[in-house]
Amino acid sequence: MSSIDKLLANTIRPEILADASYHVPESSGYIKLDAMENPYPLPIHMRAELGRRLAEAVLNRYPVPSYASLKHKIRARLGVPKGYDVILGNGSDEIISMIATAVTGPGKRATIMAPVPAFVMFARTAMLVGAEFVGVPLRADLTLDLDAMLAAIAKHKPAVVFLAYPNNPTGNLFKEDDVVAIIRALGDTGIAVVDEAYGPFARTSFMHRLPEFENMIVMRTVSKLGLAGIRLGYMAAAPALLEQFEKVRPPYNVNVLTQIAAEFALDNIDVLNDQASKLIAAREQLSSDLARLPGVTVFPSAANFLLVRVPDAAAACTKLIEDKVMVKNVSKMHEMLANCIRVTVSTPEENSAFLDALKASLISH
Ligand SMILES: *Cc1c(COP(=O)(O)O)cnc(C)c1O
Repeated sequence: MSSIDKLLANTIRPEILADASYHVPESSGYIKLDAMENPYPLPIHMRAELGRRLAEAVLNRYPVPSYASLKHKIRARLGVPKGYDVILGNGSDEIISMIATAVTGPGKRATIMAPVPAFVMFARTAMLVGAEFVGVPLRADLTLDLDAMLAAIAKHKPAVVFLAYPNNPTGNLFKEDDVVAIIRALGDTGIAVVDEAYGPFARTSFMHRLPEFENMIVMRTVSKLGLAGIRLGYMAAAPALLEQFEKVRPPYNVNVLTQIAAEFALDNIDVLNDQASKLIAAREQLSSDLARLPGVTVFPSAANFLLVRVPDAAAACTKLIEDKVMVKNVSKMHEMLANCIRVTVSTPEENSAFLDALKASLISH
């Protein structure tokens, strides 16, 4: 063993040594349909105004960690019920970390649970903080297996259950009553995190139901709405619960440029909501176009992406890459996703380019 290998073996946790870092493929020159980004930039006049606001940023000072005005705008404009506050994160990825960090540690190894296949950061963050992760398989039709979830909750007593609403990578919205049954089953033993990353495309939310459930957190992000670059997520929950996560939050986790850009976006939220509406219409169009292709199955989606089963996902992705279209091959994530790809809904032009390349792959197959 070389000395650097010895150093690593002596210092780094075995599960980190065994793991690979989160892989993001190089995408320049590609039509990028792999990460659920909004394809529409801000209109030019808005960019100019944003530039003026950013020029006023006080870069030599730390951010003011109360983030009072940004939080106020989030509460006022994004439907947070009266009496409820929010905590901001550097993307909802950081919110997931804060939640996981707060529930587990030496002397209390918590279990974190989610239906699977799920957003990869749930299991990954559990691993990073040393919590146990229990994934409860969805049914073959990708709906929530409520009986299995309730049995797993009774057995494992999870401190946290993450429920993405709609779910990633499947795109479907779990039944509201099933989500409620899980929140109720957790009661005072576990926290239910309703992850509404795709809320803008689902047009439904648990936010207004916060007063009903003391043990519910509603987590959201501006990433899928068109601001993936600024990294801003937030969670809303009962004050006593938020108070605990506030202890875990790094004090200056949201930088001043993000704060200004987010407030600007919230002042112009109609522009982003209009883009979301266009994407919802494009989703319905793309979904029906795909459904007409022989051998192709499209799953119902309430998000800005579609899960699509093709005859041979590896061959399809090879052809798509040749044609400079990047999607996500999710076939290996779970056996129920065999030969499935996940494609972001984009502009009509990019959706057509994807459709053409996919059609070509079906012929050559
Ligand atoms: C994309 C995504 C997020 C992460 O969002 P960021 O705010 O960009 O960190 C969270 N949850 C789900 C289900 C997602 O798909």
